[in-house]
Amino acid sequence: MKLSQLLIPLSDKQPGKIRDAGLIRLVQGGFAVYNAKSDEILLLPFGTLALRRSLGKLLALFAKTGVQPTACFGAGPFSIADRFVRVFGEVARAFLEEREGNLVFTGYGETFAEAQTFVRALGEAVREEPVFADLGCRVLEERRDDAWRLSIAVPAQKEARESAPGICCSACGWGGLPESIAPEEEAFSAKSAPGHGELPLKEAHTPGANTIAELCRQLDVPPSRTLKTMCYSTGMGENLRVAAALVRGDMAISLEKLRRALNASEIRRSTPEDLARCITGVAGYLGPIGLGEAVTLVADSRVVGACDLVVGANKPDFHLTGACWGRDFSAPFVADLVRFEKDSPCPLCGEPLSEANWRVLGHFDVPVSPSETALTCRDQAGTHSFPFAWTGCVFGISLLSALAEQGGEKWPEGYAPFDAWIVPVLPEDHETAERLLQELSQQGLAPLLDDRECDAEKKMADARLAGVPALYLVDTTTSGKHLLTDA
Ligand SMILES: [Zn+2]
Repeated sequence: MKLSQLLIPLSDKQPGKIRDAGLIRLVQGGFAVYNAKSDEILLLPFGTLALRRSLGKLLALFAKTGVQPTACFGAGPFSIADRFVRVFGEVARAFLEEREGNLVFTGYGETFAEAQTFVRALGEAVREEPVFADLGCRVLEERRDDAWRLSIAVPAQKEARESAPGICCSACGWGGLPESIAPEEEAFSAKSAPGHGELPLKEAHTPGANTIAELCRQLDVPPSRTLKTMCYSTGMGENLRVAAALVRGDMAISLEKLRRALNASEIRRSTPEDLARCITGVAGYLGPIGLGEAVTLVADSRVVGACDLVVGANKPDFHLTGACWGRDFSAPFVADLVRFEKDSPCPLCGEPLSEANWRVLGHFDVPVSPSETALTCRDQAGTHSFPFAWTGCVFGISLLSALAEQGGEKWPEGYAPFDAWIVPVLPEDHETAERLLQELSQQGLAPLLDDRECDAEKKMADARLAGVPALYLVDTTTSGKHLLTDA
């Protein structure tokens, strides 16, 4: 291909009104134009070629994991699935099609776990692909109201268009969203800290210690050995219910997770009036022991089995030490209640978490209960055969923005619009450059000949701006053609 035949508005100027570093590079490299008024990104030839090649790479990757490529022209893969899933079983459980620059997925599982396993394999395939591993790709899992969601994300600046605020651990590399499902790992547990046996339950005078920090200072214990008891209300008047959430003192409570654990439509921090109606304790000194029958206890799963905890004594200026799960208190409801915040302990290694921003490249949703779009066939027992219909999407623009932002100077091979950019230094070098163009094409590469009538310096600068992986400088007056790999 020759550059003079393509619309490539390269510009080293900073485009106005765009703050997304990836999008800025797309605009400067002549891949796209941005319409600030409508917040639309329009892909030009460079962008379209890069999108085609990048989606092609992913398509091949997903095909290896068993996703069947289809083109359904609006009908959606459901009609294909409906026809083939039952007959072809394993080989026809997952489908994708390219739709408006995105990859759109539909798949089927006989159980939630089966669908989840399949989706996890898709996420892992992308995460392990060297190009995405180099971008710092993570697979983030979270529970939503009616679905479990897996997102494929890469670190991004706050200004990225598809940026989601999250956290990451600089010590072990774990990444997540505030409401991520907490992995069950030893380091997260307060159950068996060394040197702690089962001590008797004892009252401790803790004047003014109505914060975890002050409590830890007074009793000289780490926050991980304290128990936070926080009350939340649902309903009003006659229907008022108060629940006490129990989490480790150094962790935050996720309102969303608690609301889901209680199966409530809304939830709020209990007001002093709410508390006065249900409990005898005082905020700041609440604890699970003797809180009263009117309160529902919900424990974070990491509290189960913990011993020697410091808990509120439900009276002002007093706490209890040596509290043990099972012996002194327990809770009828146990769930993952942790919200991940800056300085929360990492669920894998326990080191403090830092804030992070993730650019979501795509996500997959598996419904937690049988979905309406499940295949409606029934077996002899009258049950759905493939009731867990999951969906997913990989966003083309996010993908391009991530590759442009994080790919450094050059795009990864096979994802760039062209593999090589050929620069003839002088007009008399054009013939040699043309021959090189043909040679590289015959090798199966996608080369671009910069045949513009401008000086070589400008051409090389533009090639760098576009980030094409290899730059060939053709100079027949000296030693022939040079490959500048360090473009
Ligand atoms: Zn960690």
